[in-house]
Amino acid sequence: NRQLTLASRPIGAPTVNDFALQETTIPEPKQGEVLLRTVFLSLDPYMRGRMSDAKSYADPVAISEPMVGGTVSRVHTSLHPDFKVGDWVLSYSGWQDYALSNGEGLIKLDPAQVPPSYALGVLGMPGFTAYMGLLDIGKPQHGETIVVAAATGAVGSMVAQIGKLKGCRVVAIAGGTEKCAYALDKLGVDVCIDHKAEDFAEQLAKACPKGIDVYYENVGGKVLDAVLPLLNTGARIPVCGLISQYNATALPDGPDRLGQLMGTILVKRMTVKGFIIFDDYAHRYNEFAQDMSQWLHEGKIHYREQIVDELDQAPQAFIGLLQGENFGKLVVRVGAD
Ligand code: NDP
Repeated sequence: NRQLTLASRPIGAPTVNDFALQETTIPEPKQGEVLLRTVFLSLDPYMRGRMSDAKSYADPVAISEPMVGGTVSRVHTSLHPDFKVGDWVLSYSGWQDYALSNGEGLIKLDPAQVPPSYALGVLGMPGFTAYMGLLDIGKPQHGETIVVAAATGAVGSMVAQIGKLKGCRVVAIAGGTEKCAYALDKLGVDVCIDHKAEDFAEQLAKACPKGIDVYYENVGGKVLDAVLPLLNTGARIPVCGLISQYNATALPDGPDRLGQLMGTILVKRMTVKGFIIFDDYAHRYNEFAQDMSQWLHEGKIHYREQIVDELDQAPQAFIGLLQGENFGKLVVRVGAD
């Protein structure tokens, strides 16, 4: 049983040396348990938080323990009445080949309906995050302007497309011309701006002639700086993530912008609300699953995965995710299905 464990807590960007690959024996299930074989492992930005022991909404991974993570797995051996060998399940097995489960929290998947890996993206946690953050906090109204960065990623690509389904002008922000072309052609956004461009802030202002009504916050940093002066009265900001800061070891250079931020919130009477998807919205999962399955079925949602082969490639792929090297929802194929 190969496992990728946390070897050390990174300071700044993680390196491959912060992970260790170890071999352990495959565990044996007891009565009432199943042994799961990982087929797909989801890589997500929140895992950077689990590598750190700073106080957060979830406990850190302990040193020498396997990294945590959502997986799509198959039942390899079953001593549980509800599961049989070969069943596909959504699990939280972490960065390893095999894991035991007593069945609690496992969700059965039907590979005849959609590819099972979709349960880690469009039909799973990232899709749910986009849906609830945008619709429940962002409350987009027909004709309004939505801005979303990391717009070709797992969450952002869904925010962009749901925004279009709701009749909004969607201004996407992504890293590089290839991602921007994709956002325009496949996601159907109105404009896409490369955040690496010199005149990024000017381009954003031009793309939002009627200001910004919803800023779906995925990244923070210079994107937030450029958005701030463009926000309309009554604007909503679902604070989903701040990926530009996850590897930061100090506050950014330059003047303290807190006064400007609070002043804008006051004068523009804005709603700024953070959320942690399953902590806050688990009770609304079915609503999301129903809508998203239907949109997918009707061909209204485009979904892109980047599948990386082999568990031992997970650290490098994860490091790249924090630097914009992924293009679409990042998934590792751990075992053959
Ligand atoms: P993505 O698939 O979007 O991958 C991350 C992307 O972030 C990169 O591809 C890159 O895109 C972008 N990025 C990285 N660094 C920067 C930077 N410095 N400035 C601008 N963009 C950057 O990841 P997810 O869709 O899984 O996650 C998106 C966000 O949603 C994250 O902040 C994550 O933490 C958050 N999240 C929050 C949840 C919650 O419950 N609150 C649940 C799930 C996710 P590009 O090349 O286009 O810049």
